[in-house]
Amino acid sequence: VFNALEFADKNSDVNYKKDTIIHNPQIIRDIVKISGCRFKIVARPDVEEKQEENKDAVPSPPAPPESLRPRPPVVCVMGHVDHGKTTLLDALRDTAVVDTEFGGITQHIGAFEVKLPTGEKVTFLDTPGHAAFTAMRSRGARATDIVVLVVAADDGVMEQTVESIRMAREADVPILVAINKIDKPGVNIEKTMRSLAKHGIVCEALGGDIQAIAVSALKKLHLETLVEALTLQAQLMDLKADPGGYVEGVVIEALVDPKTGKQATVLVQRGTLRKGCIIVAGTGWAKVRVLNTAEGASVQEAPPSTPVSVLGWREMPSAGDHVLEVDSEKRANEVMRWRHNQRMKEKQAADWEVIASKESEHRAHYRQQLAHKRALGRYRIKPSGPRQKMIQQDTHPTLSVLVKGDVDGSVEAILDILETYDEHERVKLELVHFGVGQVTPSDIEIAQAFNAVIYAFNVEVPPALAVDARKADIPIKRHNVIYKLVDDIKQELSARIPSRQ
Ligand code: GDP
Repeated sequence: VFNALEFADKNSDVNYKKDTIIHNPQIIRDIVKISGCRFKIVARPDVEEKQEENKDAVPSPPAPPESLRPRPPVVCVMGHVDHGKTTLLDALRDTAVVDTEFGGITQHIGAFEVKLPTGEKVTFLDTPGHAAFTAMRSRGARATDIVVLVVAADDGVMEQTVESIRMAREADVPILVAINKIDKPGVNIEKTMRSLAKHGIVCEALGGDIQAIAVSALKKLHLETLVEALTLQAQLMDLKADPGGYVEGVVIEALVDPKTGKQATVLVQRGTLRKGCIIVAGTGWAKVRVLNTAEGASVQEAPPSTPVSVLGWREMPSAGDHVLEVDSEKRANEVMRWRHNQRMKEKQAADWEVIASKESEHRAHYRQQLAHKRALGRYRIKPSGPRQKMIQQDTHPTLSVLVKGDVDGSVEAILDILETYDEHERVKLELVHFGVGQVTPSDIEIAQAFNAVIYAFNVEVPPALAVDARKADIPIKRHNVIYKLVDDIKQELSARIPSRQ
């Protein structure tokens, strides 16, 4: 194991920060060779590369059947644009508020509950459409029990209706149809059902097993029937969870509120979330301080299928993150460290891939340059042996330059000026290589191969390299004003004009 103190690969965009650990000495040698970057390597023979113990939080084993209790269904509303998903959710949310003592404004926390007079509840995810459904699925969190497919009776099955059916099917989530906008004159409910049947959604009225409720989201017609149908569907599905044991859930939404600070909505899927619980989610964790419902009521606890807005986050989670309860703050910190390290490792592996591909790109480019010169027959390159200058066969005098600059902008500016040089001049100007960063051994090699002058703009020349360059007879010219650098190039060009005899 090696500990790279600070390393920037000047030939690529990758930076290794302090304490980056590179395990493979060969990789380190390669990096040094390619970049010429000098850095300190500390060998730590006492650190063995052993399999790190998994410190992550893990879900509890499945609960025994006797501890399972019925839980409300969690519902996602999907369907074609403009078919009334948002209006339906708004109408249902209003219904939810009516019979609560807090009455008035429901907060948007990403999900809300609707309670029937019978006491049964349905939880609705508050973001309509594919995005919410996909986001919840993409992280493996199966948050949705039932999809309500909204189809406008005046429009029938449309592209996104079909797409929603496909997505629900793929996720193996049952569908309940809400035929909307039935308040509009001349709408034909049966025709809508028949068009759905063509896509495999056969409603009960047509002899199938899919419940379809005709509603008007705008006029709030039959909304209760819709909610009842959902609870019936939930009973058929026998949805149950253990309200005891460690809490598990999913983050529905996460945001920083200007007043209350870090806030995330958790949909509890197992156990009962209480104040004081310590939970981890992705790279976030919280000691639960406040639990709020969508109606803004502060509650003491949230059993399965309840969405609650949680305050008390030390680090923010992200939507879709899996929530797990842990025993102590110490344990939460341990999990955070472990997850952070895992991420760093993944990032490092990805970085290394970038370096490797940049490196091969760079080598290919260099090889191509050499091959090109050879093909032109202008240079004879001695691959090995004592350092010897290339023998220039071209009789046309040439000034070869290699440009290194401190930033992209300065290098570009210099290249722009060089480009304006007229190629029909008596002395040819040739750019053999350029780059950002200090002068490296590979620059010296290239300069030597092409008999080039190195122009270093605003960058350091490591003393050891300056010595090497002098020995190899490679002039390195340092400048920090662009026009002076250009003047210098002009002087070099005129010095190469053959005298007429
Ligand atoms: P979304 O794109 O599916 O969320 O559709 P919206 O909820 O934004 O509704 C689109 C339009 O349809 C809006 O102008 C709504 O007022 C209207 N709309 C929604 N539901 C109904 C309904 O039941 N009846 C009628 N007449 N219009 C509705």
